[in-house]
Amino acid sequence: MEPPRLFASKRCPHCGLWSDHQHRPDDRCEHCHELLDPLGPEREAKLQQAWKWEMPPAMLIPIPPTDPAWLRGLKYLVRGGQLLFAATVSFILWLITAIAG
Ligand SMILES: [Zn+2]
Repeated sequence: MEPPRLFASKRCPHCGLWSDHQHRPDDRCEHCHELLDPLGPEREAKLQQAWKWEMPPAMLIPIPPTDPAWLRGLKYLVRGGQLLFAATVSFILWLITAIAG
């Protein structure tokens, strides 16, 4: 029976030896302790960043307290829609980054 670790090993780009890896972006070679995937942490950071995309505050509709109540209510509705839009954009960005990465 083949040892399952065969599927979890990766050839180290630095020393050329096979090393165990845990499918994590910052796995390191057990021989030379260099990153097995030099671009791993960078890709992971990009994914994190895409996921945290937020609507720039300047793009949110301003709601001055001087507005009448009905107008503020209306603006809160618009703002809710904008936040929903921001959540959708961050999901799409994450998706694109995940596919491109
Ligand atoms: Zn190595």
